Parts: sequence; C-alpha cells; structure tokens
Amino acid sequence: MENLDLSFENIKKVYVGRDSGCRCGCHGKYTYTSHTNPTNSTVLAGCIINDRRVKSTITRAKNLLENGEGKITDSMKSYVNISYGNDRAICFYYEN
Ligand SMILES: [Zn+2]
Repeated sequence: MENLDLSFENIKKVYVGRDSGCRCGCHGKYTYTSHTNPTNSTVLAGCIINDRRVKSTITRAKNLLENGEGKITDSMKSYVNISYGNDRAICFYYEN
C-alpha cells in the first residue's frame, strides 16, 4: 500500500531535482522544515530551511498527482518519491 502523507507537520525535508542517479544534492536541492531540529547532525551544513518552500512543494506534488503528470514511484515508511516530467522527482522525507 502506498504511503502518501503530505501533511506538512510530518515532513522533515523535501528533495526536488533529478529523479535518477545520485541523491546527494548534486542534481537537486533539499529543503528542510523548521520543525526539523537544525542542530541535528543529520542536517547538513549549509542546508536550506524554508517552510514556505516546503509547503509550495507539497501543493505542487498534489497538483502533479491530481492531474496525472506525476506518480508515486517509490514509497517507504520514511519517504515517498513522486516522479514527473523529464526525469524529475519530488521526494518527501518524514520524521522518524
Ligand atoms: Zn551526488
């Protein structure tokens, strides 16, 4: 069963970028929510914390899924990956 939870409060960070290949950030960007503790060691130095951007990305993902452009291509307890367009992805990561 697909785990699609796009509630802002549960999201830790979001990746927007290339769908295939490396996810270190070289082909996309991670944006963190402010409720993710920025002093946590899992949050990389120089990361972007921007609630408004995360919220607009949630809206964009919902629109992509509704209009059929995007689809869930991977879904785990800790994340959900939505693929769209030409090798593009939005991936939401959840609080542990
Ligand atoms: Zn990389």
